[in-house]
Amino acid sequence: MTVYLVGAGPGDPGLLTVRGAEVLARADVVVYDRLSVASLLDLAPPTAERVSVGKSPGHKSMEQDEINALLLERGREGRTVVRLKGGDPFVFARGGEEARALADAGVPFEVVPGVTSAVAVPAYAGVPLTYRGLSTSFTVVTGHEDPWAATETDWEAVARVGGTVVILMGVATRGAIAERLMAGGLAPGTPVAAVTWGTRPDQTSVRTTLAELGRTEVEAPATIVVGEVAGLDIRWFESRPLLGRRVVVTRARAQASELAARLHELGADTIEVPVIEVRPAGDGGAALRAAAARAGEYDWVVFTSANAVERFVPLLRDARDLGAARVAAIGPGTAEALRRLALVADLVPEEFVAEALVEAFPPGPGRVLLPRAAAARGVLPEGLRAKGWEVDVVEAYRTEPVPQSEERLVAARRADAITFTSSSTVTNFLAAAGRDAVPPIVACIGPVTAETARSCGLAVDVVAGVHTIDGLVDAVVVALRT
Ligand code: SAH
Repeated sequence: MTVYLVGAGPGDPGLLTVRGAEVLARADVVVYDRLSVASLLDLAPPTAERVSVGKSPGHKSMEQDEINALLLERGREGRTVVRLKGGDPFVFARGGEEARALADAGVPFEVVPGVTSAVAVPAYAGVPLTYRGLSTSFTVVTGHEDPWAATETDWEAVARVGGTVVILMGVATRGAIAERLMAGGLAPGTPVAAVTWGTRPDQTSVRTTLAELGRTEVEAPATIVVGEVAGLDIRWFESRPLLGRRVVVTRARAQASELAARLHELGADTIEVPVIEVRPAGDGGAALRAAAARAGEYDWVVFTSANAVERFVPLLRDARDLGAARVAAIGPGTAEALRRLALVADLVPEEFVAEALVEAFPPGPGRVLLPRAAAARGVLPEGLRAKGWEVDVVEAYRTEPVPQSEERLVAARRADAITFTSSSTVTNFLAAAGRDAVPPIVACIGPVTAETARSCGLAVDVVAGVHTIDGLVDAVVVALRT
């Protein structure tokens, strides 16, 4: 029953603090602004009440008094309230007023500081705020007030301090601010960096000088850095190969995050469209349990997905239940899932498709257990039978389509590329979203998935050379770079 004033950071969800994530995870109510990062709201329990108090098209923002009243009311109800604020809650954010109101009313509260845009945004643009020999201080100023009015900010004095000047909310007033700083003694040639939507996939920055700032196009919201350090350009974030590119990730819900995380690290804005959900087998797993109990009677157990591994192996009492059976994995992802459960794959083909596994398999006779998805292709069991093996196929799990929200489909249509990691992601995406929702570039993990996409009328632009998540990521980079 506490109200937490939490700094959300400037945009990159990774810049939320550990404490911020902790309190969000047990929030009953989240009160957030328009600039808040949507994915942070997902950290709150699905049942939490979410209240937007920011301006949105067609809606007026809530007055500060109303926000204070809302926090007091929810806090008094004894609920865990998270007031999520961009950057740091006490830097140009009226968090101080909210804390004051809570303190006066005797409602328990805690301040969870955040990474302020004043510091993080320049960092993501490769501008260090202090630098030996260039700057020994930084001043953070709001540009919100009219620079010509008799206001609290003495710009000439700010200019005389000499170090780096960081201006928030200064896009509209940038020309006047520049003149006042020059009147205070800063040289017209003083370097300036203006960074819009910093730390986000759509970050852009411009470099200019104080004299030119008023004539330089800058979009809000921006953080403007004035000083010699703005002449440094130690780029890292803006040189990421996928920065600003939007990529749709289609996967079973539980697995989307790995691919999305890899693309995100390369700068992409990922739109996760989970099209299939992994469900227990139709018989509730009875056949799989029976097969696990007899695992030692087989010569081989063959896995074609991490899902099958994760469903089958825990049904063994321990690895001894496998007896002398050897284990095959279709590719490195599946082998890795085995390794996590302390099993080493005896066979992984060089190309990660069913045909290659059949080819790499020794000749029979003997018995093979194949736990896998319902509705998988017949290539593997048929191929193994042709090599003299007796094959028992057992349903380990099913995949089912996931209903799509309109909002997600709109985002998908605006993307630059889409990734498909299996035939079922292709067919389920098309069934849920239609061909219109497919972005210009289509990337597939391997030839089978690509064939399915083509047979559904899609033009496939790239197929991963190595049929793994890493291979797919490399292929997306190549496709989007050209
Ligand atoms: N409490 C916030 C600041 C709120 S004032 C903090 O500590 O960061 C809002 C101003 O912050 C914007 O007008 C802009 O100048 C700056 N800002 C916030 N997010 C930003 C971002 N992602 N990129 C650039 N500037 C940002």
